[in-house]
Amino acid sequence: MPRILDGNRVRDEIKSELKPRIAALAALGRPPGLAVVLVGHNPASEIYVRNKIKTCHDLGIYSESIKPPDSISTEELLAIVDELNARADIDGILVQLPLPKQVDSKRILMAISPSKDVDGFHPFNVGALVAGLPAPRACTPAGIIELLKRNAIPISGARAVVVGRSDIVGKPVAMLLLHEHATVTICHSKTPDLAGVCREADILVAAIGRAAMVTGEFIKFGATVIDVGTNHIADRERVARIFRNSPERLAAFDKKGSLLVGDVDPIDVVEKAGAYSPVPGGVGPLTIAMLMVNTVASAERRTGIC
Ligand code: NDP
Repeated sequence: MPRILDGNRVRDEIKSELKPRIAALAALGRPPGLAVVLVGHNPASEIYVRNKIKTCHDLGIYSESIKPPDSISTEELLAIVDELNARADIDGILVQLPLPKQVDSKRILMAISPSKDVDGFHPFNVGALVAGLPAPRACTPAGIIELLKRNAIPISGARAVVVGRSDIVGKPVAMLLLHEHATVTICHSKTPDLAGVCREADILVAAIGRAAMVTGEFIKFGATVIDVGTNHIADRERVARIFRNSPERLAAFDKKGSLLVGDVDPIDVVEKAGAYSPVPGGVGPLTIAMLMVNTVASAERRTGIC
């Protein structure tokens, strides 16, 4: 049986390490502050934002959610961001994506002050990532590195293959792995012989958004497999196929009407990997934990603690 890389355990470790840092800031009368802007009523975004606010509350981070209507214009949203940029009590600004069509998302993300960009998406911070300079790192990629390091998975010298080249996961995680001295290959939808390239990986990161696409033929025996995918499957037959008719999984599906499935085949990975991050309970919990880390680090920088 492969080792399970337990994201909930690592998340709890990270959160407990943050507590004294938050207490030190609070003792100065200046708890860290996070503003989350949630436009409209996207149910998935509402759940993400609720979880972020709850985690802030649990840790003693001041949080504020701003909920403009779906009809907001780019100019109006820019005005909200400007106001948050100017506020001394706000260390982190997060604009929950996706934004409505009429809003120019790139302009909004560019308008967030790089020092308050706790998502690490601002081109200034992307540049800092490439240059290896200190700056907020994108949360999910940073969480993946924490998951590997805190499970003592060797990265230096490893062959790492990342499937997916998005700005929020694939590219930044590849860069972070490179900084940790892995030899990194980035794959995408035009990569020939994808399975063959993946089989070279000691560390295989799947950030694709296609349920159970990474099957046994993609995985070298003993590899570490990081499954970033979050795919909600509402087709019972597909769930039955993916989980080989597992009665527990089908019962879970019947209860909820859908099931969360990663990008990696959940049965094959158990047969071939040396270690893997499950879905749910692997990478997912770390994204919010790293958002908290970025918010606290921003508060420390802005108050001159470090
Ligand atoms: P994107 O859709 O932005 O990117 C997907 C990438 O996968 C693209 O680079 C695409 O290639 C590649 N791809 C798609 N199909 C194939 C294929 N058949 N073969 C090879 N490559 C393929 O997704 P994200 O990076 O935003 O997210 C990826 C997954 O991670 C999603 O399931 C998402 O929900 C999940 N996620 C989970 C998070 C968490 O906290 N756990 C956080 C963020 C994302 P190309 O560029 O050529 O189109």
